[in-house]
Amino acid sequence: MRILLYRGDGVVEPWVREFEGVMPQVEAVTWKEGQVLPPCDYAVLWNPALGLLEQLAQVKAIFLMGAGVDALLKFGEALPDVPLIRLGDAGMGVQMAEYVTHAVLRYFRRFDEYEQQARHGAWNPLPQIPKEEFAVGVMGLGKLGQPVVEAMRHFGFPVRGWSRTPKDIPGVETYAGMEGLDPFLRGTRVLVSMLPLTPDTANLLDRHNLGKLQPGAYLINVSRGAIIAEPDLMTLIRSGHIAGATLDVFRHEPLPAPHPFWNEPRISITPHISALTMRHDAVRQIADKIAALESGQPVDDLVDRSLGY
Ligand code: NAP
Repeated sequence: MRILLYRGDGVVEPWVREFEGVMPQVEAVTWKEGQVLPPCDYAVLWNPALGLLEQLAQVKAIFLMGAGVDALLKFGEALPDVPLIRLGDAGMGVQMAEYVTHAVLRYFRRFDEYEQQARHGAWNPLPQIPKEEFAVGVMGLGKLGQPVVEAMRHFGFPVRGWSRTPKDIPGVETYAGMEGLDPFLRGTRVLVSMLPLTPDTANLLDRHNLGKLQPGAYLINVSRGAIIAEPDLMTLIRSGHIAGATLDVFRHEPLPAPHPFWNEPRISITPHISALTMRHDAVRQIADKIAALESGQPVDDLVDRSLGY
């Protein structure tokens, strides 16, 4: 069996070594612009070039080295008509839970305000926020949203969840579809976006929808930047309706130097690190899925092109 490994950032050698360790029977090949690809059974990709996609019509499936598929689906008709399979958790769920827990506790325990006070030498204990007034609303209840929901429940926050199709999660107030969005947002104090970027979710968090959050709300975005209308978020932060935001992802990455987010103290920025791909976990998962496909078994995490995730 021959597998193509390709990364747009060129850092593919560690993946080749990992595959050789996990699937020693497999020939792992790489590709460079202008080369003709030998026939391959499977392709494992991240940020592919168009010239490569055009040579993948014969593979049995394309695997992604990540959970998000928006960067691949943007190729549209140029994508070969073969199954697309993304990573499902593969070590990222616990990282998301860690990141979101840190951000929620920072706001709930008012550490952001204590950081400011300490800078000015102020010793000023603040009243504790009642937990029942700090409902956490998680948008997206998939492979990465669910561990976040569990972490929030562990700390005793009122938890709400929103997804495309209805869910029944013990201890969580769930809402679904566009008809559920309004009541979901109106009861939320801390909004966490775990949504994939699709035609339905792009710019979903605009002035209109963010304005429905409770006054003094917080926003945490760990999924994709283009879900937020960035100028609208800036307006709502300046008006005080949104008290703070923790953002890991942005419409343009790296976040450009003149972007107003950099100079807004109520916005905390990290460089798209909330959940990194764990190479070993990822390769083991892909190897298991290839084994399932080879024996005619179904696999999880198939991308639905019509839904965009
Ligand atoms: P997933 O398992 O596919 O779950 C997606 C969730 O979003 C599902 O619950 C789905 O609803 C919901 N959803 C999709 N479209 C919706 C819509 N129009 N309205 C309401 N809900 C909608 O995805 P995942 O593995 O949890 O990953 C989520 C995203 O995280 C990825 O797409 C990626 O963009 C991002 N990510 C970011 C990083 C980072 O480092 N920042 C790392 C990995 C992934 P249903 O359950 O009803 O289908």
